[in-house]
Amino acid sequence: MHVLVLGAGQLARMMSLAGAPLNIEISAFDVGSKNIVHPLTQAILGNGLDTAIERADVITAEFEHIPHDVLEVCERSGKFLPTTKAIKAGGDRRLEKALLDDASVKNAKYYEINSREDFDAAIAHVGLPMVLKSTLGGYDGKGQWRLKTLDNVEATWTEMAECIAATDNQAIVAEEFVPFDREVSLVGARGANGEIQVYPLAENVHTDGVLSLSTAIDDIELQEQAKTMFTAIAERLNYVGVLALEFFDVQGSLLVNEIAPRVHNSGHWTQQGAETCQFENHLRAVCGMPLGSTKLIRPTAMINILGEDTLPEAILAQGGCHVHWYGKEKRAGRKMGHINVSADYNAELQRTLCSLANILDKQAYPAVHEFAEQLK
Ligand code: AMP
Repeated sequence: MHVLVLGAGQLARMMSLAGAPLNIEISAFDVGSKNIVHPLTQAILGNGLDTAIERADVITAEFEHIPHDVLEVCERSGKFLPTTKAIKAGGDRRLEKALLDDASVKNAKYYEINSREDFDAAIAHVGLPMVLKSTLGGYDGKGQWRLKTLDNVEATWTEMAECIAATDNQAIVAEEFVPFDREVSLVGARGANGEIQVYPLAENVHTDGVLSLSTAIDDIELQEQAKTMFTAIAERLNYVGVLALEFFDVQGSLLVNEIAPRVHNSGHWTQQGAETCQFENHLRAVCGMPLGSTKLIRPTAMINILGEDTLPEAILAQGGCHVHWYGKEKRAGRKMGHINVSADYNAELQRTLCSLANILDKQAYPAVHEFAEQLK
């Protein structure tokens, strides 16, 4: 099988690594340069998108911010999965919110803002404090504002108006501030025959809006809630592939914050911790194969490597640690790789994470240090 992935970043790279044992070959479309590239070496494979579409058995995506004209050519080929509707919903908070409402899935109260008058109406409808998010192009906490008091309305509006004016079809979604206890996510797959398999929930810690630590958790009640919402959304979209849902956990009750119609950073732990990793399961789903088991095989956590291109050697010497580099050039805050940390049981995983706090720099890995501090 030959799969063309829209996007040529680390997710396409890890799909390529996971697909090789199944004889699934990946080429990637770099949306920036418009080149077809090898997902591991980034070598240009040439011949352009049309030929790549023709040669591919299946086309899928590794991210949601794909130009609509590209999505449309792929859609026309009849080879694109999950669905362009899912990709568009992942890239536009208005469509995402409408999808959640259609699927009767709980999410934060919201109001769409296109003008200064809408902003007043949003304040009346949603109340303060509120979180304001650009509908297009915002992720990892980018393009967001917090409004706590009415004193800041004008200053916030000035910034939001600039944001709306800068991009075609841009708007702002105002959301009630959710006083969550923690953030969790569910990664799962829906096969071409409608079969659904989900991984254990992951608890996620963010640093400056970017995922820094993700740990698989065992919570039967929350898992049930999350799976019900996953099923409602996946079925509504007639989805095929891996889908991720990010939730706020408010006293044991889940609200969906975001959907990601693709393999997800909070599912990277599955490479070492689950019987079949998310990358393989995405490929199995889009290639029409049976899904692999999503069972947890070892308690596992994932530490994101942000803005660093080296690690102390002691990490590789530490039992249970697996390093995954993405081959990217170093840039401040950039996702450069991740470390999966596995153990035979939870207490051992906690001990290993504490010993990693002695090896990893506090500034670069604050979440690991906070975790170790909390256990003291
Ligand atoms: P997002 O880009 O929507 O994932 O938002 C980035 C981060 O902002 C989330 O991971 C949360 O920590 C926080 N956040 C987003 N929306 C809300 C909300 N409605 N209430 C409270 N915190 C939020």
